[in-house]
Amino acid sequence: SDSDEEDVRQFKIIVLGDGAVGKTSIANRLVDDQFNQSYKQTIGLDFFLKEITLPGDVKVALQLWDIGGQTIGGKMINTYIYGAAAVVLCYDITNAESFENLEDWYRKVKQSFGKGGKSGKGEKGGKDSDGEGSDSGFPLCCLMGNKMDLGHLRAVKESRSAKFAVENNFLNYQVSAKSGDKVNLAFHQIGAALAKVM
Ligand code: GDP
Repeated sequence: SDSDEEDVRQFKIIVLGDGAVGKTSIANRLVDDQFNQSYKQTIGLDFFLKEITLPGDVKVALQLWDIGGQTIGGKMINTYIYGAAAVVLCYDITNAESFENLEDWYRKVKQSFGKGGKSGKGEKGGKDSDGEGSDSGFPLCCLMGNKMDLGHLRAVKESRSAKFAVENNFLNYQVSAKSGDKVNLAFHQIGAALAKVM
């Protein structure tokens, strides 16, 4: 039959985190399988599209929104976050401050989705992954430590990031945009979680 014309589901994924943690590099690695050493601050919004094929031959398109040089107080942040199916919170494993600042980034996400509470606890009804994603409208959240190729300069212990991920019910990855390590894996698993193909 002609059912190859299946429509591919698209998911908006917003990549947040401090400047220079490697957000643009991660998106470039995922989409073009490239890495560019020179640092060019993203002006405005960069938009990337990546189609991936999941187990069972399910295709999904990931729309990656890179907020570029927008700071947490930037006027456009809420606009970017709006409607996101997933949020990737990025830090640089060699920069502890970039990890600590994710608390603020995550608070911003919760505010944008009308979760103004003091702690996110209890709002998702337990630890099951069932409460996340589009069911509640709240995005799937993923912690992503970048620059794993610089492991000798690590400033954020794995146990610390793991704790944050468990407490907030996040997926958790450590990647390197430079070497490409785990970038594809992470986004395939995010795509699978969004499409509920596990
Ligand atoms: P953004 O501001 O968060 O988008 O960060 P960029 O993607 O522009 O990267 C900031 C700087 O970190 C650039 O000089 C990159 O070349 C560098 N960088 C990004 N990812 C990696 C990585 O995985 N390993 C190393 N060693 N450097 C990286």
